[in-house]
Amino acid sequence: MLEKLFSPASVAIIGASNTPGKVGHDVLKNLLDMGFPGEIYPINPKADKILGIKAWADIESVPTAPDLVVIAIRAPLVPSVVESCGKKGSKIVVVLSAGFREVGGEGAKLERELLDIAAKYGIRIVGPNCLGVMDTGSKLNATFAASVPPPGSIGFFSQSGALCLAVLEWAAGTRVGLSRFVSLGNKADISEIEMLLAMEPHNDTKVILGYLEGVSNGRALMETAKKVTRNKPVVVLKSGSTAAGARAASSHTGSLAGSSQAFSAACRQSGIIRTANTRQFLNLALALAFQPVPKGGNIAIITNSGGPGILAADACDKLNLNIPTLSQDTVSALRQVLPPMASYYNPIDVLGDAKASRYGQVLDVIIKDPIVNAVMVLGTPTAMLDVAEAAREIVQISKKTDLTIVTCFMGEEKVREGRKILMEGGVPTYETPEEAAEVLKFMWSHRLWLERKEQPPVEVKRDIERARTIILNAQGEKHKLISPEDVTAILESYGIRQPKTEIARSADECIEKAEAIGYPVVMKVLAMDITHKSDLGGVKVGLKSPDEVRQAFNEITSRVIRIKPEAQLVGVQIQEMITDAREVIVGFTRDPQFGPLIMCGLGGIFVEVLKDVAFRIAPVTKQDIREMLREIRAFPVLQGIRGQAPADLEALEDTVAALSQLALDFPEIMEGEINPLMVRPVGQGVVAVDARFILRGES
Ligand code: ADP
Ligand code: MG
Repeated sequence: MLEKLFSPASVAIIGASNTPGKVGHDVLKNLLDMGFPGEIYPINPKADKILGIKAWADIESVPTAPDLVVIAIRAPLVPSVVESCGKKGSKIVVVLSAGFREVGGEGAKLERELLDIAAKYGIRIVGPNCLGVMDTGSKLNATFAASVPPPGSIGFFSQSGALCLAVLEWAAGTRVGLSRFVSLGNKADISEIEMLLAMEPHNDTKVILGYLEGVSNGRALMETAKKVTRNKPVVVLKSGSTAAGARAASSHTGSLAGSSQAFSAACRQSGIIRTANTRQFLNLALALAFQPVPKGGNIAIITNSGGPGILAADACDKLNLNIPTLSQDTVSALRQVLPPMASYYNPIDVLGDAKASRYGQVLDVIIKDPIVNAVMVLGTPTAMLDVAEAAREIVQISKKTDLTIVTCFMGEEKVREGRKILMEGGVPTYETPEEAAEVLKFMWSHRLWLERKEQPPVEVKRDIERARTIILNAQGEKHKLISPEDVTAILESYGIRQPKTEIARSADECIEKAEAIGYPVVMKVLAMDITHKSDLGGVKVGLKSPDEVRQAFNEITSRVIRIKPEAQLVGVQIQEMITDAREVIVGFTRDPQFGPLIMCGLGGIFVEVLKDVAFRIAPVTKQDIREMLREIRAFPVLQGIRGQAPADLEALEDTVAALSQLALDFPEIMEGEINPLMVRPVGQGVVAVDARFILRGES
């Protein structure tokens, strides 16, 4: 449907001008300079000819409806001109003009007007407030950018005009080139979703690159990306993520979950590669444009000096890339081409006296080793090494292998020529070994995504009617925080085990209940308006005798009365003490774009300090949950370290699934969490010792 945006038979430029520097001039000039083969209709009532071609007074007088209309006139005039385009029969309009939503008030009104007219005629709009569209294959340059990249295999879309200019200039300067380019501007109509759909089937595009500031429809983006990323890698750089914890949150999950976490989770679950910064973004684009995605994570490193080789190995190690032992055949073959002092083991050191030809010989051997999936070739400009010559050798070999090759020749002046040769030969080259390693890691992760089988969301057994009754009743009350009794009942309906718990209002009653439960016990203050009990000294653990229970009762109640006199004290909870457990937090909030955002991490009272948590968007599959747990830095703690038995991961996974299901079942619950979930050793399950759910407010 958007094909005509990229390869129109005819283009009209409304606001075309003879005055250099005006947008309407620059666009027409770009169109002519690129050699656009279709019809061009410059439109300007005050000129007969513009840049040597016949100009038309208005869109009405043009002989046929142009496939593509580019508008470069003042914003207030745009809606009526689009109306004329609609009457004429044009279906795609690129609005370069600024002065719409980005200026607020009147501009926003104008943008809505524009959209209403477009909807009336079935017109699709790119922009407004954008830089234009380019397709190097169809020789369409309908932008007013100064740089023109050569044809290439990167399809790029961007919400920022300035970043557009930067990437165009980068693609031109590095000669990596672009296939398609769209500046989305205000994204009033056409968004990143249409871009993915338009670039996926496009043969010249190998990698889709996008810069985003906001997402138009998060769920739809995920659905589209899930399919597109199976065919083509999608790399996204996203800025403008609100900091987590910006608002006063009543749960730990609420204070840790921000829109950036939601976006990252959405990317992970839909195969989008999100890079952390601009450098990574461009580095990865380069690699995916030039090289195949490696089939595995086994990297061979070739270097002419120790230092960079070790740096590269360290970087790989940190990123969990494997530096395998090479096969016996490879080592023997290397002995034939390397001097005796060289290192035949990975990283392979060809020594400082290596000439370019030695790089070629070694690389030729390495690519034949079946254990190797990707090669990182490093070099420093020694007196012996002609980097340009080495670059030529590498380019040649790269053309005959389907292994991934990346390079890094450190330096500046002496390596410049070599870098150029590599880039022109389709071999990505980076300034540092760490960058090269990072790129390989991204590529390898993408391979894992490609190999990942689609799974249905986990099914959770639950008593949804029971939970519904409780939640409906709770909604009628004035508290937004669901009461502890109701929390208990909800968790029960979702099959989540809780400790034996009793409520008591006097020291004697406490002792009686403690004896019934069995020592040791835990005591906690119970009051409607206290959410973080230990902050007030309201939790006592490991109480082993009636005396300790009595003392705890007195301490808890007197402390609460002293520190928070307005608290509505209900009494004290006496709880079975759960021992031999690792404390985990499992929670959810709701992201305005992506919906229920599930969090899991190392729990307890230090959650916000350690921030060791991972996120996913619900619904989740078994694999999502498993990967999520492995993202937690402290995951080894759950696996069991220092002779400790592994934790019951299966029970933990079930609880994450259950809470995720609860979030999906009841949009009425704004956020909720279990903290801590006591995860006991394998086979012994999990126990939720503390949980809270917050209902949606009235608004
Ligand atoms: P809050 O989060 O409101 O301060 P919690 O009920 O989470 O109160 O208790 C705080 C800490 O006390 C927990 O992180 C855990 O270390 C410990 N704890 C609470 N309940 C139990 C229990 N039943 N068994 C063992 N330890 C517990
Ligand atoms: Mg707690």
